[in-house]
Amino acid sequence: MRLAELMVLFEARYPAEWAEHWDRVGLVTGRPERSIHRVLCVIDVTPDTVADAIALKADLILAHHPLLLKGVSSVAAVNPAGRMIHDLIANDVALFVAHTNADIASPGVSDALADALGIVGRMPLRPAKFPATGDGRGHGRVGRLPVVMPLREFAQLAARVLPTGDLGVRIAGDPAKRITLVAVCGGSGDEFLPQARELGVDVYLTGDLKHHKASDHLLEGGPALIDAGHWATEQPWLAEVAQWLQKEASLETVVSSVRTDPWTMHVYGNFAR
Ligand SMILES: [Zn+2]
Repeated sequence: MRLAELMVLFEARYPAEWAEHWDRVGLVTGRPERSIHRVLCVIDVTPDTVADAIALKADLILAHHPLLLKGVSSVAAVNPAGRMIHDLIANDVALFVAHTNADIASPGVSDALADALGIVGRMPLRPAKFPATGDGRGHGRVGRLPVVMPLREFAQLAARVLPTGDLGVRIAGDPAKRITLVAVCGGSGDEFLPQARELGVDVYLTGDLKHHKASDHLLEGGPALIDAGHWATEQPWLAEVAQWLQKEASLETVVSSVRTDPWTMHVYGNFAR
């Protein structure tokens, strides 16, 4: 399939106009007339994932996070981004980014997260605004667990089914609290803490939660929190989009095995709370 044809499929599933105004999505490198056979799916474009694409002879990297979010006036190979751009072009690897437009799509990034956790009967945590309104689109997802379980057990489930590795998950709230209604948001979801509170969910699972936001939220009577990490809450989307590409475009797809979570290790202290 030619890259130009694949772009039409991407645009239908993740229209660029659904992206936030500050976001930069779409094609970053690549010739539209070029034939695409193998796609590497990654969350982050890093020197390691670019090297992975070249080693795998991938024609395209589909990435979640933009490589060039801020405007640049040079792509000289004098910094990591410039070197990656050169490596991509020199090896004829196209790069396509689907970021906040893939977040709010349905199915989107948070659907893959909710699926991994077995959450059913879903609706958006914050429904999408024009021009993406309707059809279950929006940021995050809210739904139910098929069985009620204590917070501790739900956190253990999350740590097990998400690629949290050595980092595990962090919990805020009573570990014995009964959990049935769950809100999730892949990536950095602290922006949607008020929605999770208003909807009266039992727990909100996302990544990148900060001290003051979490403390204030709990003081205001908000639901329990689980921070499962930015990367680990977005990574399940890669398998979903890879499967869609195989089916829709008959392309060979590879989910990158490179962990691009900047956090690599968790060391425990020896005091108990
Ligand atoms: Zn993200």
